[in-house]
This record gives sequence, structure tokens and C-alpha cells, in this order.
Amino acid sequence: MKELYRKIIGKREHVNIVARTLLENAPSDVAPYILEGLRNVSNIILALPFTKYGWLLTIYEAVGRTVNSTIIVYFNTENVDWTLSTIVHELTHKALNISHRTILDVVIDETLAYLASFKYGFLRLYEKGLREAVSLLSKHVIAWEEHELINIYIPRIIARGLVNYNFTSVVKSVIGNFSNLTSLWLKSKPEEDMKIALSNALSAIGLNPETYGLKRHECRKETRTTYSRKIILEGVDRSYVEMKEILEEIVKEPSKLKELLSPWWNEVEPILNDIKAYIAYRRLSSVQG
Ligand SMILES: [Zn+2]
Repeated sequence: MKELYRKIIGKREHVNIVARTLLENAPSDVAPYILEGLRNVSNIILALPFTKYGWLLTIYEAVGRTVNSTIIVYFNTENVDWTLSTIVHELTHKALNISHRTILDVVIDETLAYLASFKYGFLRLYEKGLREAVSLLSKHVIAWEEHELINIYIPRIIARGLVNYNFTSVVKSVIGNFSNLTSLWLKSKPEEDMKIALSNALSAIGLNPETYGLKRHECRKETRTTYSRKIILEGVDRSYVEMKEILEEIVKEPSKLKELLSPWWNEVEPILNDIKAYIAYRRLSSVQG
């Protein structure tokens, strides 16, 4: 699969690790989707910390981002599995090409992307965070914004239950059909706290859980807490945190931009406008509280 090696841009040793794992560890039912995803992208850029793309991802507060047909993914220097998981996730989106007409299309799309990654064995990366979220949600506490429930928590809760199903048959039965997705999930006999958590998360995004065979509960909405900041920093290494801290300092004191970024000036200069826009946005949102 020479094409894969050619499409991944990064240090040779990193390219080798990524390409080898993606191909050799691919579960047979997921592999065709990874190949299809690869056909649909022109490049996968492995963004090292303190490089142009590393900074770019830091200002997007993301570990992965797809721009047109290029996937930019943060190269986690401490645990490369996060990088691999993100690539599997993004390639699955690219393979399925699901159009988002409703929020349920988004949930289905994200669930399948997480499921592909979980089937590779990357569920372990998300298990702790997932457990924490389920623990709160099952106590009827909603501590997240709707978009976080739609894009992250609901998909992960459902995907976790589907890891033993054949990926192709899940894809075939759930695209455009959220009821099929939840009934497959219920057939996997999820634990009681998972069911309560999913029911509460569905209520919180305006759906009636009873439509999907789940009991409805009363929930209380928690004001914004540290939970969602944690998710932003999930899957990153110390260098990413360091870049983030440098940006935070600039947010506090924009006049220091040049001084603080000078060690990486060649890398940041081409994206200076993006950095400045981010600083301005962050200052504006902190003024507004
Ligand atoms: Zn996604």
C-alpha cells in the first residue's frame, strides 16, 4: 500500500509507524473503510509540536482537523495511539461521507467514526473520560453543551456498546436511521447506568428517549464547569499544553506576541493572521464573560 506512505506527510519514522499500524492492525471489517477514506483524501499531515501545523491545531483547540481533502492531525509525542485513533476517526468520516441534514445524522456519523477507532483497540484511550461522563449523566446531571453531547458523548456511549458487531452491517443498518442505531445498542445489553446516561443525554439535546426504548428522567442542568475544558485537552502531550500556555499568555498580554513566539517565528509567521484572530476572539469572549 505505497499510496498510504505517499499520502502521509511527516518524519519518515513517524510515517512508517502510522502507516504500518493503520494497515496491519486494521480489523478486517474496518479495513475497507480506511482504504476508501484514504482514496478520498489527498494528504494526512502529521503535525509536530511547535511547527506551523502544530500551532494551527492549538489555536483550533483540536487534535485533528480536516480541511477540504487534507487531514491535519496532532502527532502526540508521548502516546502515538491518540494520533492513530484520530486518523482512523477522520478517515472513517471521509469514507462514509454522510451529509448532515439533522443532528441525528451528526450523531450517527460521529458514532461510526468512534466505532472504527474503538474496533482498532483505541477504546482504552477514551474509557476513563467516558466513565466519568456516564457517572454524571446517570446521576441526571447535564454538565455539557449540546454540541458536546451530539459530537462526543452520545456517539462514544453508543459506539462503546457496538464494538462486537460487524462494522459493515452496523454502517448499512444505521445510516439515516437513528432508531436502528439505538436498537442495535440496546441489543448489546448495555449496563443500567449507560442506559440512564444515554436517555439523559438524548433528553438534553431535545429528543424523547422513550421514542428509542429508553426511560425518561428528570435532569438538572449544571452551569459550565471544568468538564469541557478537559475534553479540549484530551489526547495531547506536554508540548501541546506548553503551546496552549504560551497562547494564553499572549491572550493576557497581546503586546508580547512577537517576543513569546520568537523561538518559532519561521513556523508561526505564515499563520500569524490565524493566531491574531484567535487572540482577538479569546479576548472578546473573556470580556463577555
Ligand atoms: Zn468526528
